Amino acid sequence: MVAGTTPLESGDPTPRVGGPTEEDLAKCVHCGLCLNACPTYRATGLETESPRGRIYLMRALHDGRIDLDDSFHTHMDLCLVCRACETACPSGVPFGRMMEATRDQMWNEPVGPPAQRVANRLTFEFVFPHRRLFQRLFAAMRIYQHSGLRSIVRRSGLLRKMPGGWGEREALMPLLDSASFVVQDAIPPRLPGVPRVGFLAGCVMSTAFGDVQRASVRVLERFGCQVVVPPGQGCCGALNVHAGERARAKIMAKAVVESMLEADLDVIVVNSAGCGSTMKEYSELFADEPDYLPRVRQFERLVRDFSEFLAELPFPRVSGPGSKESDGVIAVYQDACHLRHAQRIAAQPRELLKQVDGLQTVELAYPDLCCGSAGVYNLQHPAMSREILNAKLDDIRASGASLVVSANPGCIMQLRKGAEEAQLPIQVRHIAEVLDEALNGRDG
Ligand code: SF4
Ligand code: SF4
Repeated sequence: MVAGTTPLESGDPTPRVGGPTEEDLAKCVHCGLCLNACPTYRATGLETESPRGRIYLMRALHDGRIDLDDSFHTHMDLCLVCRACETACPSGVPFGRMMEATRDQMWNEPVGPPAQRVANRLTFEFVFPHRRLFQRLFAAMRIYQHSGLRSIVRRSGLLRKMPGGWGEREALMPLLDSASFVVQDAIPPRLPGVPRVGFLAGCVMSTAFGDVQRASVRVLERFGCQVVVPPGQGCCGALNVHAGERARAKIMAKAVVESMLEADLDVIVVNSAGCGSTMKEYSELFADEPDYLPRVRQFERLVRDFSEFLAELPFPRVSGPGSKESDGVIAVYQDACHLRHAQRIAAQPRELLKQVDGLQTVELAYPDLCCGSAGVYNLQHPAMSREILNAKLDDIRASGASLVVSANPGCIMQLRKGAEEAQLPIQVRHIAEVLDEALNGRDG
């Protein structure tokens, strides 16, 4: 970090405004128990790439002893915000909240690679907040994939020559479902006697994983729920929050809060781990809007992850044999970090998978480690992401599983790409698809 005279050393302390609070910073007792849980520390062995080292740097910035410069940016940006350190920490350090506050500080500073800054501005200020633009981009991608253009471009070797990691980006893009998942035109009347569930359509989930969303709705209905997909919702803002862009994140979050509360719901279900964790923590995003906080807290109390909610309900009665597709299949559940570490949900999806006839579930040796996807991390840090992914693929290979089940679009895209490149013969599916197939199979 910055060498030479610091503001404090020169007798001119200028504690920085914003960033993690003094209270959160003070929770870290520097014990180091989080180090081995951290994928970037495991990969580099460097203190500066560990949770403890990053907290030291946050503290130094907070106290005005260092500048927010390129070096600071590098160490903070290499963090996956996987929050494995939170699970490992005995002192309750809220690392995710601290890192998001730090990235908020970094957002408007001219630090980091200029190309990355431009890409971030385009992505988080123009694409995610504008649903129509987002949908048009995906519509163009669908034409590219389904017209045969994709295979021509891939065979041509053009992608390998493209600058700025575009080849990597193209490889990550899943084969898009033939149709997007759409919100309802109007809020339907309440059905008596059944849970009324508001479902988050999502941005990536509704456009790239339309079939998963339709499967999720069918499963919720099979569990006896009325599913409402209220109009007016868009992207929940999770990726913006993780990147440190809060202004538009708040606008997107408010649209989701209002559309859901308008619909008179018993519960709000989300089947994307990263979205769910952000939605459960919206009150941190709106901490500076005390007048709006009661509404946000009312919303937060209703939010449940898909597996978390289903595990509270009795599994639907079976009337026939299990799904033929699942017979004799060895499956492993890959925890999304924002479920396992941020929401502390690990048992519920495993319990649900145990109910699927013919599915034999096994565990990974390191289930608590990230797969290296982490939002757009795999595009911004391809080398580190690949190293972390390779460790995950080794773990999957050793498990003997042929089916990997997860609950986050980023993890699914990352593992599919890794498996394809490593020629690992596995299927990677969302838990909603597996349950939907099992329930259909049980219909006989
Ligand atoms: S974050 Fe927690 S586990 Fe890590 S050094 Fe600080 S107190 Fe120890
Ligand atoms: S969030 Fe993940 S990558 Fe970042 S410091 Fe914690 S364990 Fe390491």
